[in-house]
Amino acid sequence: PDQVDPDPSKKTLVILGTGWGSVSLLKKLDTENYNVVVISPRNYFLFTPLLPSCTTGTIEHRSIMEPVRNFLRHKKAAVKFYEAEATKIDYEKKVVYINDESEIKGDVTSTEVPFDMLVVGVGAENATFGIPGVREHALFLKEVNDAQAIRKRIMDCCETATFKNQDPEEIKRLLHMVVVGGGPTGVEFAGELQDFFNNDLKKWIPDITDNFHVTLVEALPNVLPMFSKQLIDYTEKTFKEETITIRTKTMVKNVTDKYIEAESAGPDGKKQLEKIPYGLLVWATGNAVRPVVKDLMSQIPAQKDSRRGLAVNEYLVVKGTENIWAVGDCAVANYAPTAQVASQEGAFLARLFNQMAKTEALESRLKELSEAQETAPNKQARDEVFTNIKELQRQLRRVKQIGPFEYSHQGSLAYIGSEKAVADISWLTGNFATGGTLTYFFWRSAYLSMCFSTRNRILVIMDWVKAKLFGRDVSRE
Ligand code: FAD
Ligand code: NAD
Repeated sequence: PDQVDPDPSKKTLVILGTGWGSVSLLKKLDTENYNVVVISPRNYFLFTPLLPSCTTGTIEHRSIMEPVRNFLRHKKAAVKFYEAEATKIDYEKKVVYINDESEIKGDVTSTEVPFDMLVVGVGAENATFGIPGVREHALFLKEVNDAQAIRKRIMDCCETATFKNQDPEEIKRLLHMVVVGGGPTGVEFAGELQDFFNNDLKKWIPDITDNFHVTLVEALPNVLPMFSKQLIDYTEKTFKEETITIRTKTMVKNVTDKYIEAESAGPDGKKQLEKIPYGLLVWATGNAVRPVVKDLMSQIPAQKDSRRGLAVNEYLVVKGTENIWAVGDCAVANYAPTAQVASQEGAFLARLFNQMAKTEALESRLKELSEAQETAPNKQARDEVFTNIKELQRQLRRVKQIGPFEYSHQGSLAYIGSEKAVADISWLTGNFATGGTLTYFFWRSAYLSMCFSTRNRILVIMDWVKAKLFGRDVSRE
């Protein structure tokens, strides 16, 4: 039995996920109004903008994690948290089926959770476009364990490359670090990796100096398509100086354990397929829809034509439903799948739900009073009730009606390595595009200010200082 039984007079609000969208909703939600249940396979929030820094140990992963238990315990009314994956949402039955996917399992590993209202904030999974070998051989960069796996693999490649009697070709392969996808994830990771080599690896393992090389492969004609032309040029120039190779107009078609096969235009303009050997392969080609979301979409006729996720209306209600909302990367509302959008959507829903609860409470009180007025024993009692009704009606009018969700774009920021960053910022001077060292300090302070808690902020600063003073830790663990 639950420690806190649900209050039958309140609606049950189930929130899926503990990412940018769901956590921003939870932060501002008045939990007294609903029986709130949170379901997510990870019991922490992850500050993804600094995840690329964890792959090289510039930042330790725990510095950018915030346990949900930590902020849920400060909420006014208790919130239930289940560490589980939602495997199916039954729209008709208003039930979410959940599974404990963690290592330790009790006698009960799967069950169902009923809901009156549901918020889907499960994010997206990594896109592979069905390219053979990607899931088996590449590493992704989305979650904490991805960053840890990359960090370990980098060191493993370096140590294996220096193994006694290793063949020169094999050394070259092992030290070839290939990143597929020239979006911000790929670019930031490539920049961080080159920094790691320049600042630390070269010093600690001088043997690898001549062969360590980072290549970024992108199918389109340029990297960072969401940035202005000027900043794209700046990024490409910086990468060239850092000796990171950018291979644009190169589409990866197949992946094996030791090389990728990529298609590009040859010198004669004809398409050619080439084998690119690698030691580390990081796959960052964007988002795909999660199975649980696909399944929900298949149950709702109005979602038939939606491909990239749950189509929502201007109040973030999943089209074709009345009691399901979606936020973040799993929702399609014509905005880019970014943390910025997800957190604004979450905050919007919190305001909406707080207001809905206020309105409903006043309306039900009004109903009670109207009934009381009819059964009032005398005129004096009737007049008293009438005055109360008038006051409630006045209060009801005062509850601010919430308009539709409007996204306010604060700009795009990305770290590109060697203490440089690029920024497209709309709120400064019309449209302000900047790159360089000053932008890097702006990037650092902006990300610091966005960190979840003061604790996170202090840990991140300490990690930066530590890396500067002692270098990054190259232990393979
Ligand atoms: P997420 O934050 O991904 O959260 C999804 C949550 O759902 C997680 O808690 C997950 O565990 C949970 N979940 C998954 N499956 C299930 C299930 N079946 N049932 C229940 N729960 C489930 N955006 C920016 O704006 N600026 C940046 O600088 C930036 N940097 C980034 C760097 C990296 C390396 C990456 C990968 C992304 C970055 N983004 C950035 C994008 C940003 O992280 C996403 O847009 C954002 O996380 C989306 O928020 P979300 O809440 O939709 O999903
Ligand atoms: P993305 O979708 O932005 O970029 C993926 C890139 O991979 C595309 O440019 C695509 O052309 C390329 N690609 C796809 N298939 C390929 C193939 N077979 N071979 C070669 N290239 C291929 O993905 P992302 O960088 O992971 O970003 C996902 C989302 O998260 C975006 O909305 C992004 O804005 C956001 N994000 C933002 C930041 C930031 O603001 N600093 C950082 C990371 C992510």
